[in-house]
Amino acid sequence: MRKLLLILSFAVACLSYGNAQTTRHASHMVPTGKGWGVQAPEGMAPPNVQPRTVTTGNGINYHGGPVMSGNPVNVYFIWYGNWINGPKPSDSQATVNLINALFGGSGGIGNSGYFKINTTYGDSTHNVSGNISVAGSTTDSYSQGKRLRDSGVKAVVSNAISSGRLPNSTNGVYFVLTSSDVRETSGFCSQYCGWHTHATILSSDIKYAFVGNPDRCPSACEMQTVSPNGDSGADGMASIMAHESEEAATDPDLNAWYDTSGQENADKCAWKFGPTTGSIGNGAYNETFGTHHWLIQMNWENSRGGGCDQTLGGTFYNQ
Ligand SMILES: [Zn+2]
Repeated sequence: MRKLLLILSFAVACLSYGNAQTTRHASHMVPTGKGWGVQAPEGMAPPNVQPRTVTTGNGINYHGGPVMSGNPVNVYFIWYGNWINGPKPSDSQATVNLINALFGGSGGIGNSGYFKINTTYGDSTHNVSGNISVAGSTTDSYSQGKRLRDSGVKAVVSNAISSGRLPNSTNGVYFVLTSSDVRETSGFCSQYCGWHTHATILSSDIKYAFVGNPDRCPSACEMQTVSPNGDSGADGMASIMAHESEEAATDPDLNAWYDTSGQENADKCAWKFGPTTGSIGNGAYNETFGTHHWLIQMNWENSRGGGCDQTLGGTFYNQ
């Protein structure tokens, strides 16, 4: 997902660094998983495959690849760095607990009206379930150092699976979650706040994502520092992780659902929240799951003409 800079105020929420979108008007764009599209490689014709289980014509297109089939879709967390007593207050067990609650089996994002927006996406055999849940977690104490390249993120995932600390599952999304003292050198805090992709790891098509502690760069990756759960890092991560998880669920191999600019479902609603309870910057929230309030960016509903909403079947909002 693209990052944003809150240079002036939340009103300029969509301002972002970089010029990675300079080819956005090219004829055939494909997603990178980082929030912007790139021109398709030469000879890669736009496929014309229609899903059996969902309709099209809602501002986002199907390209023939699979969606995630799990019910729930499993997520695995790799807490990288120091999540006990790192340099920021949010590099802590309290943050870990909040994120676990968000992806907990009940009282979390799974089966919420929000996550059920993803049930409007399918492939030739089934739709996304609308449920998501954490199925396992592990830690990694800087095995690849404090400067991670994209290849280092992949190595963290590979090591967690090969060591047996996490299972080898093609139905899961592995999140590498870095404490605030870790750099992701391909552009965390300057080009994006998180991303998702896939790779062949140990002979399996493994889907994985990177999300850093946004307290490393609050102006770039957090909508507000006074946040609903009193933990700016966790609250910032919640919105970014929701974004990446719904993209991974509907476009796990970067060849299923995205629009003509290469934007996946959540990209089309990045940093758009709709109406909130309370004002942005002062602990505002727009979602409640279980006992927690969250400020989580909306997602693109693939029905009714398409639009960003807070819950399946809800009102469409443009900001
Ligand atoms: Zn994205």
